Amino acid sequence: MDSDIKDKLLFPHKDASVSLTREEVKTAYEYCKAYISFLNNAKTEREAVSAAVALAEKEGFIHWKKGMEIKSGDKIYFSRRGKAVVFCTIGGKKFTQGISIVASHIDSPRLDLKMQPVYEDSGIAFFDTHYYGIIKPYQWTGIPLALHGFFILKDGQELNLKIGEEPGDPRFFIADLLPHLGEEQMKKSAKDAVPAESLDILAGLNSAPGESGAGAVKLNILRLLYEKYGITEKDFVSAEICAVPAFPASDIGLDRSMVGGYGQDDKVCAYSALTAFLSVSEPEYTSCLVLADKEETGSFGISGMKSAFFLRFINELLEAAGEAANEREVFSNSFCVSADVNTCWYPLYKEVLDEHGDARLNRGVILFRYWGQGGKENTNDADAQTTATLIKILDEDQVLWQTGEGGKVDSGASGTLSRFFTNLDIPSIDLGVPLLSMHSPLEAAAKADIYMAYRAFTAFFKRR
Ligand code: MN
Ligand code: MN
Repeated sequence: MDSDIKDKLLFPHKDASVSLTREEVKTAYEYCKAYISFLNNAKTEREAVSAAVALAEKEGFIHWKKGMEIKSGDKIYFSRRGKAVVFCTIGGKKFTQGISIVASHIDSPRLDLKMQPVYEDSGIAFFDTHYYGIIKPYQWTGIPLALHGFFILKDGQELNLKIGEEPGDPRFFIADLLPHLGEEQMKKSAKDAVPAESLDILAGLNSAPGESGAGAVKLNILRLLYEKYGITEKDFVSAEICAVPAFPASDIGLDRSMVGGYGQDDKVCAYSALTAFLSVSEPEYTSCLVLADKEETGSFGISGMKSAFFLRFINELLEAAGEAANEREVFSNSFCVSADVNTCWYPLYKEVLDEHGDARLNRGVILFRYWGQGGKENTNDADAQTTATLIKILDEDQVLWQTGEGGKVDSGASGTLSRFFTNLDIPSIDLGVPLLSMHSPLEAAAKADIYMAYRAFTAFFKRR
């Protein structure tokens, strides 16, 4: 077979390190420097909304208020309680001709503190936790943790708290059992070796001044929090406070080919989609970027995609545009790219991965139509027309892309936001970055793939 026929017939699997020009590699690496700093400033969904809004406001985006007027070229955003956000650039076409949407999530697995988290046992103070999203509990012991929180004090004052991120800050950790006494623990399944109820954070040892006996150490923790932040035990009831890995994101590998850090599911897609969205200032179709919360717990809650906030926002825009239509007429002509990570082939986990079907690191952004178990259950399974539309857009802009299966058939399943957009009658498909060690405290993605995600979302907003 000569190479012509190979080029013509075979799927063009291309390795970024071979097919990207030196200039493109340099651009990708530069791009990831800004991404790393975004990751370090966006460990929780609230921080991600703030960081995204700050970038958008620099480009002239303003906070949407119902009743405002809109015209082509306007740049607005709608924040859902500071935990989810929709950015929108009004395009040249009417709403009823459809809108372009990229949707990603900005919440990541972590350890939430319970409503009354501070307790004392054997002279040791702890923060009691309830994990958020799917985690392997054993991965969260023996690593430095930081506390990130949002409190509403008695007088209504809002307080953002972050302990453990600045040099010189104290950090926290969850103690594991020493291996010398761990023989029985090591015989248990990985799921049971560290029970979720044991994921309590070591908070301190000292008694409050002048106090002794039971409760004195807990009292000291509450005293320190009160003196520094004005928080009482009751304020934890309404707080959103969690523990996240305290280490910063960084380059990974001697060749610096990857980015390692916490929360890349799904901030890697959120950031690449955001920067792409902001780079297209005059889209033909009205463009929306949705950064949703609660994806890791099933998309429930008022900042999750099962809530009606997106619908409401679109209806308010329709009214402002003076188009006498309902959202259904907009949605059937719209297109949504659900931007989320997928797994990738890794030779050390062969037993559950699909050697031929799974995505590869360094081969670009992943297009995936489904990710189900038990016969594609609970998955979008994007139709041929939707898939072909996206492929055309990617190819026209020479985006390096590949397909992904998400592991062997029935070896496990996951889900993305695309299902909730198809529920609205919006053709939707998934596109995202291959991610190693997903949901662990340190996830890694290839810089070339991250950059290709940016290129892909840019192509979508430009060409759709
Ligand atoms: Mn995800
Ligand atoms: Mn996830």
